[in-house]
Amino acid sequence: MMKQAQPIVIIGAGPAGIAAATMIADAGHRPVMIDEGRAAGGQIFRQPHPEFLRPPGDIYGFDARREQAFRADVADLNPAVDYRSETTVWSAETGLLHLANRGRAFVQPWSRLIVAAGAMDRVLPTEGWTAPGVYSLGGAQISLKAEASLIGRNVIFAGTGPLLYLVAYQYAKAGANVPAVLETAKPFDNLSLLPALASGGATFARGLYYIAWLHARGIPVLTGVVPLEVTRAGDGRVNGLAFRHGARRLFLGCDALALGHGLKAETQIADLLGVDFYFNSQQRQWLPTIDMDGRSSIPNVYLAGDGASVRGSAVAAASGRLAASALLRDAGHRDEGIASRDRRMIARSMRFRNALDRAFPFPSDIAGTLPDKTMICRCEGLTAGDIRHTVVTSGEFDINRIKAFCRLGMGRCQGRICGPAATELIATVARIDVSAVGRLRGQAPIKPIPLRDLTEVGA
Ligand SMILES: Cc1cc2nc3c(=O)[nH]c(=O)nc-3n(C[C@H](O)[C@H](O)[C@H](O)COP(=O)(O)OP(=O)(O)OC[C@H]3O[C@@H](n4cnc5c(N)ncnc54)[C@H](O)[C@@H]3O)c2cc1C
Repeated sequence: MMKQAQPIVIIGAGPAGIAAATMIADAGHRPVMIDEGRAAGGQIFRQPHPEFLRPPGDIYGFDARREQAFRADVADLNPAVDYRSETTVWSAETGLLHLANRGRAFVQPWSRLIVAAGAMDRVLPTEGWTAPGVYSLGGAQISLKAEASLIGRNVIFAGTGPLLYLVAYQYAKAGANVPAVLETAKPFDNLSLLPALASGGATFARGLYYIAWLHARGIPVLTGVVPLEVTRAGDGRVNGLAFRHGARRLFLGCDALALGHGLKAETQIADLLGVDFYFNSQQRQWLPTIDMDGRSSIPNVYLAGDGASVRGSAVAAASGRLAASALLRDAGHRDEGIASRDRRMIARSMRFRNALDRAFPFPSDIAGTLPDKTMICRCEGLTAGDIRHTVVTSGEFDINRIKAFCRLGMGRCQGRICGPAATELIATVARIDVSAVGRLRGQAPIKPIPLRDLTEVGA
């Protein structure tokens, strides 16, 4: 009997995954697409709950037309792919993925794999940040986009990066009172970055528009802010943020706080597959090593989109097409010579993306010097002081060794939330470069799944 060939599998139905799937389907294959979301869209085109009737312009703003075009592409693509929504990849190995869907576990064989798993928030812990009512910035946006809900009526936005201004704008437009946007960086102080930022064209112009819009509504946008403490009301919920601005210690009241200090690539699947990583010192994170078309160091494993490096939705789509066309060529398809346009587009955008990384850096100096009592690893209840103590008493500085000593990053989030700040803390205490701290190795399950899912094995 002839052995059936295993399918091409794509993880992630955001701009990168959908662009890759379209190209692979056009070449005559029927890829399996896996996404934990209810509907395709990824982060930028996240879909609202079907019962909600907010017009696209209210949800996606300037991206509403692109979202409509994306939706039409997904509708065209649907019959040509085996699409598995609400399905989480919780582990990966050569030729096999482990999936969970609605209380059941499955395995999915693959012959070639494109990982387009996107990014997530990078958060700087602040004293008191575990109070109810404190959300990650991305979480605040998901609440609005998908559930048409605000996280509060009086919401402070604190952190760094372009998404901070976008979400503050979206909240203010949706009716929230925004007492202030508090930026840790001083993005426009380095004038030499302006030409490179301006090379972002419409994307840069939109960023300026959001800031001008906030200013025009009387919403203070302060830069160079150092967050000091999230304060709580009698019921334990957040009721304000104390921060330093220049020489002044200030306080603003709120009933919810959104915190986000840029994005980090979701790299755990690549890690479990044994892909090589390198340290990107500008983004201060470990990223999978890929060639210019997304081939990883492991045969038949390709990476695309924010999961390879955070570079925005247009680059994500271009890199999805590049990964798909590399995969097709490697599988023996004729080289259609169409990759050069996407390669050029990505190369052109790098000037802008690099400038963004420099204008909105992760506040590593603040992270490295957080007060001892600040909670860092929420899952295991470890403070900055606990981590410092472990480094000093163990004499170790490799983050996986520190994990073995004090359980840092061993809980449900697997270090996805606490990892960036913990890395900076360890580097500062040990007085070494942050790259020498290494990265927390991915462990299955990479995302929390109910134990029940592992015992109910599907067909
Ligand atoms: C919270 C958040 C909000 C953002 N909002 C905006 C915005 O409003 N505007 C903007 O321009 N940019 C936004 N971005 C940046 C945005 O990520 C990119 O512009 C673009 O969406 C990247 O496309 P992508 O296909 O690489 O990844 P994504 O769009 O993130 O898609 C990745 C997909 O992979 C799926 N996935 C990940 N891990 C697994 C797994 N283990 N199992 C199954 N499925 C998995 C996810 O469900 C997701 O659908 C946001 C980023 C984040 C993290």
